[in-house]
Amino acid sequence: MSNTTTVWITGDQCSLNNTALMAADKKTSCILMVESISRGNQIRYHKKKLVLIYSAMRHFASLLRSEGWKVDYYEESPSFEDAVQRHINLHSPERFLWMQQSEFGADRRLASIIDGIPHELTPHCNFLSSSEDFEELHSTPDSRVTMDRFYRQMRLKTKLLLNVNKQPEGGAWSYDKENREPPGKNMQARPVRKFPPDEITQSVIKMVEHNFPDHPGDTNNWIYAVTREDALLSAEDFFENRLDEFGPHQDAMVYGEPFLNHSVLSPYINICLLHPLELCQEAERRYRRGQARLSSVEGFIRQVIGWREFIWRVYWRMMPEYARRNELEARENLPEFFWTGDTSMRCLNDAINTTIKYAYSHHIIRLMILGNFALIAGLDTLQTNNWFASMYIDGYDWVMVPNVIGMTLHADGGYVGTKPYAASANYIKKMSNYCKQCAFNSQTSTENDSCPFNTLYWDFLIRNEDRFARNARMFMTMRNLASKSDQWRNDITERASQLRKSGFQ
Ligand SMILES: Cc1cc2nc3c(=O)[nH]c(=O)nc-3n(C[C@H](O)[C@H](O)[C@H](O)COP(=O)(O)OP(=O)(O)OC[C@H]3O[C@@H](n4cnc5c(N)ncnc54)[C@H](O)[C@@H]3O)c2cc1C
Ligand code: SF4
Repeated sequence: MSNTTTVWITGDQCSLNNTALMAADKKTSCILMVESISRGNQIRYHKKKLVLIYSAMRHFASLLRSEGWKVDYYEESPSFEDAVQRHINLHSPERFLWMQQSEFGADRRLASIIDGIPHELTPHCNFLSSSEDFEELHSTPDSRVTMDRFYRQMRLKTKLLLNVNKQPEGGAWSYDKENREPPGKNMQARPVRKFPPDEITQSVIKMVEHNFPDHPGDTNNWIYAVTREDALLSAEDFFENRLDEFGPHQDAMVYGEPFLNHSVLSPYINICLLHPLELCQEAERRYRRGQARLSSVEGFIRQVIGWREFIWRVYWRMMPEYARRNELEARENLPEFFWTGDTSMRCLNDAINTTIKYAYSHHIIRLMILGNFALIAGLDTLQTNNWFASMYIDGYDWVMVPNVIGMTLHADGGYVGTKPYAASANYIKKMSNYCKQCAFNSQTSTENDSCPFNTLYWDFLIRNEDRFARNARMFMTMRNLASKSDQWRNDITERASQLRKSGFQ
């Protein structure tokens, strides 16, 4: 039996707004969906991430069938190649249609396995900016565009938080400065809504345990949504219970609390269960109704139409060389404790253990604890990127590479951020409650029990002194370093070297 068109839907494209689906004719098309075990083994993905993808796919296939689509679904297929060949033998499609893949090179890979059958691509449905939006901000091909400038353009484009004169609501484009409060003594995290596994998710859990036994994390304590319906409930939970508080404590960190007031919506936005614009419009509605303060709503919208879109554009502009950038020549092996959480550094111990448990931690934990450590310890950029890509439920190449290589490791020479996000224990102590009960002394840098973040921070600056001396935004920091004695510098270098030799323990 011959179909005219096969619409291939991959695991991160589970939306009825999928543009390939919208371009297809129900009567003459067949949907192809494949659970590829070899793709799931491409890197050691956290088990919870695999459960999310496969369960969302199975639920979406069932939704498509209920909407009258013909669906050819391959459970636990050894590879894409294997399933596609079986599909072609069975359905003899005249053409393939799929929505643009989010990963560089993936469209070419899919095209290489469809036996030369003609194919067409449709644009991605879950981004609001175009490459023209981004390019027009570059005065020359090599110039740099700041996220702030791009964000303003996106505010005008989406008409979010504008007053009648097309000026920013409240008079400022960004309220970032109001969004950096420390946690305070008794900061309580608001629990995120949990979604117990239904029958489909339970069978996917068994399948993941069977096929990916050596992957990190476990499948216990399942909390995530796997359908659009539940993802919307998750969003509602955030808007109702955490949005208003999201802003002020966006940068705060509390022991044992990976979520705090963050939305925990990236797992769903990244597989298209939720659309970024619908979330931002709902956040704005809450502000207009007086249910959430402006600084929180603007902060959330900035993350979604500012950072998320900016990161997507940087990825497509700079790949494929970007993923291999290593401007600071960071080549230390990733310490073993990144996989086990077994370290007496209390901040890292908590960040890694909660990541192992939930495949999630909020942005500042990723950037200022895990990422900051990798940066100042000089951990190898590819190994670090690989760790983040393995461990996070929302991890995809397009978002991981610019966040890790650019924002976190400053390995792109300053395209994403003009200044490295390097910090000592001072910052961590101010923004968290980690340090109080830590085995290390957060006040010192050169003693045996000194906080490794202090030693490695200064060692990082010493190692890169010439480079950072040219960076105007680091003037004060480098002047401080210049005032230190030779003896003190030697002590720092010596202790940093001991830390490296001992695997940073
Ligand atoms: C080292 C590192 C690795 C990261 N890896 C990922 C990743 O694999 N996948 C991922 O989606 N995000 C990643 N981020 C960005 C950010 O940390 C997550 O998007 C955010 O923590 C997701 O949690 P949330 O939904 O609770 O976000 P919230 O804090 O509630 O923010 C709302 C939304 O804004 C968007 N957003 C916020 N910051 C960013 C950003 N820097 N880049 C892109 N989108 C952003 C996300 O869609 C997020 O859901 C990474 C950041 C760092 C520093
Ligand atoms: S003292 Fe250092 S290692 Fe310990 S929690 Fe604070 S920053 Fe982390």
